[in-house]
Amino acid sequence: MKIYGINCGYNITGPVKSRDVQGYQSSGTSSLVRQPVFDTVSFKAASLPKLFINDLREIPDLVCGCCGKRMLQNDAVNRFMNEKIYYPAGIALKRIKTEKIFNESKASKEMKHAYSYLKEYCAKHPKLTMNDILTKRAVKEARKKLSPEGSEAFDEIRELTKLIAHKSKYVIDEIVKLNPDFRKVEKKVFKELQWLAKKYPNETFHTILNRPEIHGFYLKNLEAKQMDILNKIEFASETLEPEVKPLVEEAVINARKIFKEEEPSIRHKRSRVIAEFQNALEKSNNHASVQKITEMAESLPSSVTDADAFMIKGSQKSSNTIIETLLGRQRNTFEHVKPHHRIGDNGPSNIYNYIGLCGKCNLERQRIGYDIFTKTHPEMIKNEQLQMDKIIYFINSGILTGYDKYPEEIRKALLVESKNAIDIDISKLNLEQARMKRKMRQSLYIETKKALEGQNKIFKFGRSYFYKKRH
Ligand SMILES: [Zn+2]
Repeated sequence: MKIYGINCGYNITGPVKSRDVQGYQSSGTSSLVRQPVFDTVSFKAASLPKLFINDLREIPDLVCGCCGKRMLQNDAVNRFMNEKIYYPAGIALKRIKTEKIFNESKASKEMKHAYSYLKEYCAKHPKLTMNDILTKRAVKEARKKLSPEGSEAFDEIRELTKLIAHKSKYVIDEIVKLNPDFRKVEKKVFKELQWLAKKYPNETFHTILNRPEIHGFYLKNLEAKQMDILNKIEFASETLEPEVKPLVEEAVINARKIFKEEEPSIRHKRSRVIAEFQNALEKSNNHASVQKITEMAESLPSSVTDADAFMIKGSQKSSNTIIETLLGRQRNTFEHVKPHHRIGDNGPSNIYNYIGLCGKCNLERQRIGYDIFTKTHPEMIKNEQLQMDKIIYFINSGILTGYDKYPEEIRKALLVESKNAIDIDISKLNLEQARMKRKMRQSLYIETKKALEGQNKIFKFGRSYFYKKRH
């Protein structure tokens, strides 16, 4: 069995970094997202927090520079997945065998090797998740020595362990606590999942979405939308030249076949259908009709734009991948202002070329220049300003470090990339205040550390401690 991650365009299952900023964490992930109380510093038992943020993806409640929705901190999503969603690798590995997801006697020798290597590894590190393990240097080195198939087997085992998932009710309850600011499609998806979890609380989402009646329901909805668009395209093809019209009609017939007759597990149906229409339209000189039909074809539902399509695609994925994808779209990700993969003119990968976009907007923008992108996403001009205002607030407060030159550099980069469409105001930046506040936080930190060491016991400071101190 092969299960693929939903293609997000960025690495959602990637390394989980321990570069945590705990200064605003009272307890658990949910409070971390909900209550960023940075003016107060609550200390976690026995460990001193880092006082500074040095990564804009870790700024609490930062709004997406494009859609303006509140994003989840990058690390918060990693922590949530590790602590609440994935099982420790040892348990997951054992269960894929006992639950007959992985049949060792019938497996290839590469799979057998990967399984036994991983099992041995997690016997020594029982708390790690599969993602943790696959980012360890020793494991990476071991994989490099193997054949491509041998190395790939590690990923395949990981995908299998993702089927070892929590029950739907538990997952929903945890996401509710995390409280993401879902965008429209994701909100709809989440509501559907909530409803399903109510109906089948003790099953995993993979099982639920593969129930014939559930799968059939979403597939019927999806097909109705697809057929509706195909009918419209057929109708619109009347306006095309006589030699082009039959080509489009043929593409419509093929598209119906692809959507209705092909196995659900066959991928890229939508993009293949769109390509068929593009080919059919190539010889037409009727630009208005070509544009109209192209737009119609591109409006075919995808798992990014449509909840029913998400459910159908989700049914092909593991339960944990469904959750990863859903939360990944709310995650604060680095967006290259000047696109990274622009042929011959790569944008650099450093903070002076990064703004924070939610996973979903990052996916939508791709390599389009902001002069064009802001025409379809005019809200970006306002939202990028809101984001910068918050970043400046965090610089001025002495919390965000290493970003002193950021506002000016990003302002310039955005002006160039958007051909002056995005001109942000950075006049609130006050670097003198920032330096002063940083010093204050540093000395407060040292003072607290001494106090902790002096009394040799665990402190739990709440809001009131620093409130008293400052007044
Ligand atoms: Zn966004």
